[in-house]
Amino acid sequence: MSFSKPNRSAATLTTTRVDPAPGSGICVTCVDGCEGPCEIGRSALKGREVIYPIPFGKITAGSEKDYPVDFSHFNIQGTAVGAVGVEADPDKATFPAVDTTTELGADGSIKLNFPVFTGAVGSTDIARINWTEVAVGAAISGVIVVAGENICGMDPQAEFSNGKISKSPEMERRVNDFKDWYDGTGGIIVQANVEDTKLGVPEYVIQKLGVEIFELKWGQGAKDIGGEVKLPSIERALQLKERGYIVLPDPTNPAVQRAFKAGGISEFERHSRLGMVDEDAFHKSVEHLRGVGAKYVTLKTGAYRPADLARAIKYSSDAKIDLLTIDGAGGGTGMSPWRMMNEWGVPTVQLECLTYQMCEKLRARGAYIPPIAIAGGLSLEDHIFKAIALGAPYVKAICLGRAVLTAAMVGKTHGRLMTQKMEDEGEDPSEGFEKLFAVGAELKDRFGNDFAKLPPGAIGMYSYIDRMKQGLQQFMAGARKFALKYIDRNDLIALTRDAAEVSGITYVMESDAEEVEKILG
Ligand code: SF4
Repeated sequence: MSFSKPNRSAATLTTTRVDPAPGSGICVTCVDGCEGPCEIGRSALKGREVIYPIPFGKITAGSEKDYPVDFSHFNIQGTAVGAVGVEADPDKATFPAVDTTTELGADGSIKLNFPVFTGAVGSTDIARINWTEVAVGAAISGVIVVAGENICGMDPQAEFSNGKISKSPEMERRVNDFKDWYDGTGGIIVQANVEDTKLGVPEYVIQKLGVEIFELKWGQGAKDIGGEVKLPSIERALQLKERGYIVLPDPTNPAVQRAFKAGGISEFERHSRLGMVDEDAFHKSVEHLRGVGAKYVTLKTGAYRPADLARAIKYSSDAKIDLLTIDGAGGGTGMSPWRMMNEWGVPTVQLECLTYQMCEKLRARGAYIPPIAIAGGLSLEDHIFKAIALGAPYVKAICLGRAVLTAAMVGKTHGRLMTQKMEDEGEDPSEGFEKLFAVGAELKDRFGNDFAKLPPGAIGMYSYIDRMKQGLQQFMAGARKFALKYIDRNDLIALTRDAAEVSGITYVMESDAEEVEKILG
């Protein structure tokens, strides 16, 4: 059985003429004369443009590879006995009483109302366009929003002095959108990659914009190369090449300029450089960030091989990092090569299980273990429970990349339709939002007149997190765990031998074996 579906996908808007061979994805009979709606056929015309999911700027994309072990291969245990973290009294141990708050930071001083944060909302169009919705949604939900790499470098209005960023209206907008609604829980993280570091982005956002949490980035789950975006004009391609980015095809090449004019090439790609992880350099970067005023320093790593995971965990432990986010293969993106998204990296469940094993080894030696967050294809409350349980007691939060954007975009779309309808009827649109959103009246009570200023996309994201909160409380109440810190690996069962072997979670038929014997006498 093949786990993959090469040569056709909704992501690349490609298909096959007849059923494909499972391995190659090529039609079982590829006929001379076919116009080639498959990925190979499209590549014969548009070449490298077909590497990426389309349309750029309007979609997020997630891997469709069906991995041999995923979170569905585990179920959450339930019990009819007792309650942990609250008095075992049916009037007190109710599911709304479950505490879903969490703490990040080496000293636990970053408080979150709910154990999730956004993926890196960076310089792709889909991220830039939906930033306000996601940032405000995070602020009013009491969670963290992550401003991704390359925001300053991509800002057309950015100003530089001696090769360093001195002003970025786009970064200011990003930070202010969050701060305008921030009430003390959650936070904003700004990421830096190789180009950001060269441009002095950390110094700028920490010292001029007052950002407290800064993230070093090694990678992400969707790809093991740097960030990339599409550029629709040759002027933009030339501007970013001049700023030091890798731009393909080379917009300074006269042949490329002719091809763009003729329509053979319709877009350019901006790529970031590969990071080169080095232990000493890592510690120097952390010290540098702390030296320029970062209150918290975090690290995000991708689905790299286990030795790199070990590096991330060990270096983070030694540097007393405030949060380590580990993003598994199978996760989402605003733009990454489609085949790479499907075919590279350690999948999320396996990566998390390796993380658990490595943390156990370090803990046995008395080492500091940073709060860990897991990312990579997670979207609903059962995923949150399972990911926290599988990596307990080390996993404190979950990074939801595509999921929060989905909620924000749907809220935005319905908000636009409702606004149009209310304006047509001569009514106040914000009154329409009270009808549109289940949480509308609650937020109106909370924010009063400012409710009218809330972007509907932010309300959509809040509503989605609110739904997951209740869903998670229900799972936790069923497991009789009344705070996140009580969730442990014994709260899961493995449904297959493979899942049990990968994870060390007990196979369902062997679960509670000793206790069963005792009870049966
Ligand atoms: S060119 Fe046509 S027949 Fe050949 S693999 Fe592609 S879709 Fe199938």
